[in-house]
Amino acid sequence: MKPHMNEDVHERARRLIDMERVEGLTPADRSWLADHLAACEMCAGSAAQTEAALRALRTASVSLPRGLAASAQLIVRRRAEELRAQHARNVALVIGCTLSWVIGVASAPLVWKVCAWLGATLDLPRVVWVLGFVTWWFVPLSVMGLVVLWLRRRWESESPAFGSRWEGR
Ligand SMILES: [Zn+2]
Repeated sequence: MKPHMNEDVHERARRLIDMERVEGLTPADRSWLADHLAACEMCAGSAAQTEAALRALRTASVSLPRGLAASAQLIVRRRAEELRAQHARNVALVIGCTLSWVIGVASAPLVWKVCAWLGATLDLPRVVWVLGFVTWWFVPLSVMGLVVLWLRRRWESESPAFGSRWEGR
């Protein structure tokens, strides 16, 4: 029945059997597979095995103790929520830092001009107003750093998972 069939044909059949479960088949592939399974015992057996394995899996998941499944689900959901909250906080921190940088960089030329103008108007030595500019540059960064530190400390005291490194307190 199968001497004329080469290995590629059976490989294609196996691939289509798996694909049928995951993403579905085109009508052409479906009819090709049906023809092949009707003609090839080996692949028909493999298809039956796949079907049986999937059925066993479905049965097993149904017969799990309901309480066990529910509590496992609850644990997973809680952990997912925890991770999501932590992620949101980290994202907020990154956005805050980035924003402070962007604002700092964007306004730098303007502040430089203001400092230069102040220096010229007040007849200050160049080093004074340049220092003023540099100080302005670092102030938002230091403030942002303090805010980040303070927020982290507060979050860590709120959430035990987040603050596992602060257990000494
Ligand atoms: Zn085959």
